[in-house]
Amino acid sequence: RQEQFRALRDVDPVTRDGKRISLMMNAGLIVDLPHLPESGADGIGLFRTELQFMIASTMPKLEEQETFYRNVIRQAGGLPVTFRALDIGGDKVVSYFRAHEEENPALGWRAIRLSLDRPGLLRTQLRALLRASADAELRMMLPMVTEVAEIHAVRDLLQKEVQHLSKFGHSLPRKLQFGAMLEVPALMWQLDELMAEVDFVSVGSNDLFQFSMAADRGNARVSDRFDMLGRPFLRILRDIVRAAERNKTPLTLCGEMAGKPLSAMALIGLGFRSVSMAPTSIGPVKAMLLSLDADRLTETLNAALDDRQPREPVRELLTRFAAEN
Ligand code: PEP
Ligand code: MG
Repeated sequence: RQEQFRALRDVDPVTRDGKRISLMMNAGLIVDLPHLPESGADGIGLFRTELQFMIASTMPKLEEQETFYRNVIRQAGGLPVTFRALDIGGDKVVSYFRAHEEENPALGWRAIRLSLDRPGLLRTQLRALLRASADAELRMMLPMVTEVAEIHAVRDLLQKEVQHLSKFGHSLPRKLQFGAMLEVPALMWQLDELMAEVDFVSVGSNDLFQFSMAADRGNARVSDRFDMLGRPFLRILRDIVRAAERNKTPLTLCGEMAGKPLSAMALIGLGFRSVSMAPTSIGPVKAMLLSLDADRLTETLNAALDDRQPREPVRELLTRFAAEN
């Protein structure tokens, strides 16, 4: 199998009915970078910047961050890299950054909330990202956005950093692509405002699922209790795809489900044309989609999601579809 997947590396990820699917990989450390050419991924759809912080014993300084990002961009060799702003807190613990004890860390002071309350931390990261992307494209996105106002607040800080850098004669990124992760259900009722505000949206399905189902992703007793391929979550994802189409906003999904062939198949059926996953999943997902009739799946899936008296779990239907495909 491994050999077979390797042989697919240079094959374009196009479905049987001609849909080009962008397959990106997730990364967070320099050791992940060689997987980019090895896997044949189209780029890095999620770069988890907090990993540098999590493996360090003290807070990485501006220069360390800048050097790190510069290395990532250089090693990506011209393929796009989407940097996610620091996602500290919740399940991502940074030992020297002592957050207060919290009753519900997943719902607590984390990610963009923490960054906005510690603007020094955020501005340092923004500056490092801008400097590392001089004369190149900078793609960045914000984790755990809950309200569109948070995006404005970060944009203001970014603007200040841009002004600061140009005042001191630094080169700026050639192009800036600014996105948001969709992980908090409240954004479901701000989709049009959100999409008017950003250049792209990336669904963090691990967190979106945890919050939608009120089921802790780290608690084995409940994390597998509800099915990601069940009707509620697939309907949520379908609404996101429809909003993205309506607003012509580039959309991707970077949670673990993108890396499971059956779930990835469901995502393509829902209308996703870009997904980001662990590099080892690129081969299996590509093998799946090469034989997929995406339009026929969309029809089948829509009918199943619109069915008010369903008798068959969607997962079973998808499994059957995959077997017949
Ligand atoms: C997610 O929540 O789906 C995601 C991609 O981010 P993380 O797993 O790092 O929280
Ligand atoms: Mg997340």
